[in-house]
Order: sequence, then structure tokens, then C-alpha cells
Amino acid sequence: MVTFVTAINCMDGRVQIPIIYWMKKEYKVGYVDMITEPGPIKILSENTNATLINSIKQRVKLSVTQHKSNIIAIIGHHDCTGNPVDKDTQIAQLRDSVKLIESWNLPATIISLWVDKDWIVHKI
Ligand SMILES: [Zn+2]
Repeated sequence: MVTFVTAINCMDGRVQIPIIYWMKKEYKVGYVDMITEPGPIKILSENTNATLINSIKQRVKLSVTQHKSNIIAIIGHHDCTGNPVDKDTQIAQLRDSVKLIESWNLPATIISLWVDKDWIVHKI
């Protein structure tokens, strides 16, 4: 059975494999649809760039409707060039990002993940 989950991840090359590995293992799925932007939790939590947010939303929607993903992860990470703020600020951004994604009313569970300096994935 081909199964997918969805990740709204940073474009940073260092966080792709850790997130794919963690999600495949955690949810026992074959594939992770990856939607990337620099610092996506900054974009979603600020909620000011409607064009960009709509682009992210359309891609997430495609993953959920066409690939039947029922998990959407939003990701923040240590040493993010697109979002150079401390961990506590990123945790708050993750929370606000989850709220925004929830407002899209997609039939999926939304989770937030944080990747530390050793590229270990933590569920927030
Ligand atoms: Zn980043």
C-alpha cells in the first residue's frame, strides 16, 4: 500500500532526511510529501504574505486530497537562515502555525516538530 504524509519543512538541506526518516518511522508510511520554504514557521505565524501562504496551502491540499495524507507536520529547526530566532520563539511560531493550518479545515492531524543542533527531531 502506498501511503503518504505531508511535511511543511524548511528548504534547508540539513533537515530533509531527518524529517523524512522520522515521519516514515513514526507513521509507518512509504513517502513524505515535502513542501519547502525558507523558515516556513515564520511565514505561517506572521500570516502576512497571503500569496505565499496560499501557495503553501494549495500544495498541502494536493497532498491531502490526492495522496490521502492524514498527517501534516510543520517544522522548525536550529540555525535556520530564513528564521534566525531562538528556540522559544520558534516554539511559539510553531504553535501559531498549527492554529493557521487548522483553520484550513483539512481532514488531517496537524503536528509540530523541532529539529535540534544534532539534527534530532522532537515532537513539540
Ligand atoms: Zn531553515
